[in-house]
Amino acid sequence: MAKQPHPTPMLDTLESGPWPSFVTGLKRLAEDKDMVVDLLGQLETSYRTRKGYWKGGTVGVIGYGGGVIPRFTELKDEHGQPMYKDAAEFHTLRVMPPAGMHYTTELLRKFCDVWERHGSGLIALHGQSGDIMLQGCTTENVQKAFDEINEMGFDLGGAGPAVRTSMSCVGAARCEQSCFDEARAHRAVINTFLDDIHRPSLPYKFKFKFSGCPNDCMNSIQRSDMAIIGTWRDNIRTDEALVRKYFAAHGMNDLVNDVVARCPTKAIQVKDADQVRTEPSISAVRFNDTQALEIDNRDCVRCMHCINVITGGLAPGADKGVTVLVGGKRTLKIGDLMGTVVVPFMKLDTDEDLGKLIELAQKVIDFFAENALEHERTGEMIERIGLATFLEALEIDADAAMVACPRTNPYVRLDGWDDEVARIAAKKQQNA
Ligand code: SF4
Repeated sequence: MAKQPHPTPMLDTLESGPWPSFVTGLKRLAEDKDMVVDLLGQLETSYRTRKGYWKGGTVGVIGYGGGVIPRFTELKDEHGQPMYKDAAEFHTLRVMPPAGMHYTTELLRKFCDVWERHGSGLIALHGQSGDIMLQGCTTENVQKAFDEINEMGFDLGGAGPAVRTSMSCVGAARCEQSCFDEARAHRAVINTFLDDIHRPSLPYKFKFKFSGCPNDCMNSIQRSDMAIIGTWRDNIRTDEALVRKYFAAHGMNDLVNDVVARCPTKAIQVKDADQVRTEPSISAVRFNDTQALEIDNRDCVRCMHCINVITGGLAPGADKGVTVLVGGKRTLKIGDLMGTVVVPFMKLDTDEDLGKLIELAQKVIDFFAENALEHERTGEMIERIGLATFLEALEIDADAAMVACPRTNPYVRLDGWDDEVARIAAKKQQNA
């Protein structure tokens, strides 16, 4: 039985709506935990004064430079003592989730037990960083909690200027659109950079994210410095029985308005079955006895829309791999940035393929470590030094597939430029 609760009139109103309230959850935890009683007291003060009262500091576990987010209260009485002493220290342990975020219920129960023993009992799955956030721990208990979690096979994630905890989507285990083994790639990359996760030594944070297909369920293109996104380079596959089933259920209006009209590159057409082209780049499938969908795969930009709508009837091709993008991030010095394609396609089937990905990641991180300014993300660094310089450092040639809209963007080829200048100069001299 915990101590007497503080009055929380403002927080109480948050329980009145139709949705489950975090306040109700905290009150339930507060029945047994003095720490949560005082947390509610401090939170109520914050709501009343519209100010936050947590400040950082330095708290860690032996051998690690990151992974714990220190939180000390700034709410002090006239004697300088914490007003809510049981929540005076409320640190968070960032714990790396398994690739694909698969857990057994037994394991989740163990997490709860550890955290009730050593912390507040409050767990967030998962934070913006991808971590399991074990929130609310005293400085004294941080090491004890970590030791038990480590025994369970888990490790702390990144915090500060370091390689951060990575995320991968649920992937091939439960999603038919998956184009590579996300969990394997995730694990291989993280195991390589574990040192850079635990010992912050970079100019700023660096995040990897792995999405199995261009639906990009991890938002890796916006939210990671290095995004590895599954894709394919052959034709979209088709299953006539399932396409017919879709058409029988939805009819021509939906097929035209929801599928054909929404293809961003007009790669899909409805055609009379006997008019369908037979070139190698064409995927064709009948949806009734006289008509067919024709997809010109040269125009397809792998946006996934048609595949999502007619799932199973249309599917990613068989020659699968990944696209690698660098430089995505939320607002910081400059506005939000999407990742830029640095490798339009690479296979990721064998250990050798994985080795190439890791080699590329190492090059990107080394370059970032040496060239980024303090508190500058990769995307900002690339903006500052120019993409051409960055590609040169990675020893990657520029490619039209790196350009978002190569058919509408004018760009100039400069190979042979010097020869051409010399030829014109020679001609001018001849004519002089
Ligand atoms: Fe068009 Fe390709 Fe997107 Fe399908 S996946 S809607 S064909 S661009």
